[in-house]
Amino acid sequence: MKKLTSLLSLFLTFALLIFYFKIPANIVNASLTNNYSAINPSPRKALSYLTLFVQSYILQIFTDLLDDSSTATSPNTMTLITNTSGNVTVRSNTTYTNISDNVTVKPNTTYINTTSIQIIPEANTKYVALTFDDGPNSSLTPKLLDALEKYNAKVTFFIVGNMVNNSKDVVKRAYDLGNEIGSHSYDHKDFTILSNTEIINQVNQTSAIIKSVTGTNPTLIRVPYGTHDDNVNSKLKSLGLPIILWNVDPIDWDCDDANLVYERVKDNLDDGNIVLMHDTHPTSIDAAVRILKDYSNNGYKFVTISELAALKKVQLIPGGTYFNF
Ligand SMILES: [Zn+2]
Repeated sequence: MKKLTSLLSLFLTFALLIFYFKIPANIVNASLTNNYSAINPSPRKALSYLTLFVQSYILQIFTDLLDDSSTATSPNTMTLITNTSGNVTVRSNTTYTNISDNVTVKPNTTYINTTSIQIIPEANTKYVALTFDDGPNSSLTPKLLDALEKYNAKVTFFIVGNMVNNSKDVVKRAYDLGNEIGSHSYDHKDFTILSNTEIINQVNQTSAIIKSVTGTNPTLIRVPYGTHDDNVNSKLKSLGLPIILWNVDPIDWDCDDANLVYERVKDNLDDGNIVLMHDTHPTSIDAAVRILKDYSNNGYKFVTISELAALKKVQLIPGGTYFNF
């Protein structure tokens, strides 16, 4: 309703403007024939005021049209500081309690690829990025997504391009929940033994598949096996992708004891850590769900790689390698 009123006002304003632009000619004619300016000494001054009024009125209408505050339930204004390095894109279904930029963040408001913001770390909170490689898995990944949704946690999935076809809905759901989708190559080849063309194809094919599901290209890559060399770095630099590795490896892919995986992760939940896991093993999922349940609201926050970098004010550079933040 507010937008309808604004649109109507905008229409009327333009009508007024057209009328206004016709006035000068009339005034000039009047002053020549009837000595109009002697009767009214400052018609131009009056017109200046009218111009200012119309300008500010149009500005207000545009502001109203662009502002979604009419649909927000209870505006939640944050402390605003200048955006510096470590930007992150705010996505739908992602609630940040501590952010900054010259925007007013409102609950239940969707920000889709529109604004770069800085997240400010909360006091007494350790931030950890759990990452899951080699998926998506049509039966296991959804169990993890259920837990992520339940505990309001976010993780990063480094997915393999040729695994996506049967699990597009899983990838879409993961993305829509605010998780990050990174590339893990098309078919999990060791990049150090590939030709330059093959590396580029692996990356481009996977990016295209991810974009076809989420609508956006991945901005991160984890090279298969974590193996890379100067040539791989240089190719990934030219493709605009930072290389995300890890500093916590519970070797979950070779462990059929969920308790053991849980313990290995739990013992390394230090601030800024990147944990490597795989959503292709039931024990990994069980361990991850327990970690999320026990620590999500217990002094820890599980965030995506981009969020963790932003929190630590680390600018991710294409071709650069990152083990933790
Ligand atoms: Zn892998």
